[in-house]
Amino acid sequence: MKYTLKEILDLAEKGGFAVPAFNVYNLETLMGVVNAVKETGAPVIIQMYSRLFNTGTGKFMAPVILDVMNDVKSPVCFHLDHGAGLPECIRAMRYGATGVMIDASTLPIDENIAETRKTVDIAKEASVSVEGELGHIGSTKDEVWDSYTTVEDAVRYVNETGVDALAIMVGTAHGKYAKAPVLAIERIAEIHENTKAHLVLHGGSGVPDDQIKAAIDAGIRKINFGTDVCCSFIEAYKGLDPYSAPLDVVMAKASEAVKEFAIEKIKLLGACK
Ligand SMILES: [Zn+2]
Repeated sequence: MKYTLKEILDLAEKGGFAVPAFNVYNLETLMGVVNAVKETGAPVIIQMYSRLFNTGTGKFMAPVILDVMNDVKSPVCFHLDHGAGLPECIRAMRYGATGVMIDASTLPIDENIAETRKTVDIAKEASVSVEGELGHIGSTKDEVWDSYTTVEDAVRYVNETGVDALAIMVGTAHGKYAKAPVLAIERIAEIHENTKAHLVLHGGSGVPDDQIKAAIDAGIRKINFGTDVCCSFIEAYKGLDPYSAPLDVVMAKASEAVKEFAIEKIKLLGACK
């Protein structure tokens, strides 16, 4: 069932769980996620990076995602992850996305607010929800991770932009962690309490289960998994003999690994009964 980002996160807020947001890269990873949705009946967010829309992959995959949204009974949101600017957000909306992320987190807060506000004003006209980012969430390869989101800035950002969801920097990063991250759980709780916003955790791949659960208790409502969707697919594919069967049969096994990974996270986040 087609849901906007706001609608799906409202469900999570009400139920006290988090909705998993799986990045998909090709039809096989998408099939893995969709089969997990069908098996669990859980609400999920299917998202793609800005670059996939830029390279044309998005154009190829969007019609399939839209069909899935009409086909499955559980709530599904189609989301743009890390939209680089307003043009990218508009393009994703044209392809049918029901949520877009505008990532202006590397800009000073005043400019971030202005960029995000502009996106919110336009997306509203298309009934599309917007996720913003405050406090830059970098890469696991970065040497310093010091731009943690403050409560004061978060309150101002939410009030002045009108975003539907807010990605915060509370100790995670994108990519493979060299060692398990330690999340600022108290900070999540303070930001949630003071903004009442739907909070988003990026870099969910590799975060220990107990910290994921503590983050949800503190108010996180969307958790992104990109790296581990890739890894589950590639690790499974590496173990296969590509010449053992027709390509679709071989690829189905790698797709199955994505499904198993997605089901594990859906259960961990409390998104299925
Ligand atoms: Zn991210």
